[in-house]
Amino acid sequence: KNEVIPQPSVNIGMVGHVDHGKSTLTKALTGIKTDVHSEEIKRGISIKLGYADTPIYRCYDAQGNEYYTREPKDASCELSRVVSFVDAPGHETLMATMLSGSAIMNGALLVIAANEKCPQPQTREHLTALEIMGIKNIIVVQNKIDLVTRERALESYREIQKFLKGSIAEGAPIIPVSAYHTTNIDILLKAIETKIPTPKFNQESPPKMFVARSFDINKPGTPPDRLRGGVLGGSLVEGELQVGQEIEIVPGILTGKGNRQTWENVVTEIASLMAGRNSYDRIRPGGLAAVGTYLDPFLTKGDSFTGRIIGAVGKVPPIVFNMTIETHLLKRVVGFQEELKVEPIKSKENLMLTVGTSNTVGTVTSARDTTAEISLKYPVAATVGERVAIGRRISNRWRLIGYGNILS
Ligand code: GDP
Repeated sequence: KNEVIPQPSVNIGMVGHVDHGKSTLTKALTGIKTDVHSEEIKRGISIKLGYADTPIYRCYDAQGNEYYTREPKDASCELSRVVSFVDAPGHETLMATMLSGSAIMNGALLVIAANEKCPQPQTREHLTALEIMGIKNIIVVQNKIDLVTRERALESYREIQKFLKGSIAEGAPIIPVSAYHTTNIDILLKAIETKIPTPKFNQESPPKMFVARSFDINKPGTPPDRLRGGVLGGSLVEGELQVGQEIEIVPGILTGKGNRQTWENVVTEIASLMAGRNSYDRIRPGGLAAVGTYLDPFLTKGDSFTGRIIGAVGKVPPIVFNMTIETHLLKRVVGFQEELKVEPIKSKENLMLTVGTSNTVGTVTSARDTTAEISLKYPVAATVGERVAIGRRISNRWRLIGYGNILS
């Protein structure tokens, strides 16, 4: 039967140390490979954001016991919802990507391989990132149980429990699986259905979409009259978007010359909407969406619009060049094998700030015990009260050192 699959209603981040099995698990859960960054353009504006969607069905076996699957087997099965998995790259230089990705996660699977001691550097780093971004709905996946003895599996389980103690994930379910052999995936699906609820949708809120990627989807040599407008991929976190609607994008583009340059928000119309592999007339939050616009595709090519916000005209957050933040530093720099103390923020140092899906570098113009004023190299769209993650360059990489709340 040809059932129409609805739009995904929840985004679940796939996080954890490199090689612990995030891609393999995504494939086991969805049947889709996310590690192959293939050609981005399939069927018009369908795009590759490093994510995979899957329907989850609730079914009953002959004994009347409930179970979950992505492949309905008989008439007892009913679609529960469609879930979108956001694959956070495990490579440690991409901490910033992980942080900006977490702006669009409603929950996360923290993948920990049973055949290595826990925690590995990025296991710790990603859990801290989830904590900082306030992602509470976490399921820990103890992977690669096929590679270890029963004794090691139990020992690994205890290491994980100890590691989670006192963190945002304390008490989170720990599900042993083999992603490679698809063992226990049904149990994991059940945990996803019970522990990571679909966020509530508020029809009244104006739309707010975080742009994670942007594209020029035209093949080279397309004649001008066949050119399609710029495409923005990301996640709608509030409100609705409709084809034909006027939208405003902030920060927009830099116009003017020399010292007369100014940032101007961009206004355009929605030409098309896609989520997963389907087109829609309107979309609601959940999953990742691609918004086709009438913008010059040259403007949006190569992810140049990453980090921007799409909203209703006149209802977007302000563009910010300088911000004062209330700072909360971690005790230790995460992501290292060895322990390294976080030094206080100093005047004139450069920090990386993650605001929504935007990563920007700024120079500290004034630093006090619990506040810092920062002048941004590239402006961001931000609202007072919003949370920002703070990174510092240590041993040639941006490391997470804390978070801040925007005061002004
Ligand atoms: P990622 O870096 O976290 O995305 O990890 P991958 O999914 O790429 O997995 C890293 C390696 O571990 C690959 O060679 C996988 O085939 C292997 N792997 C992943 N999950 C399992 C598992 O459950 N059992 C076994 N034996 N190997 C696994």
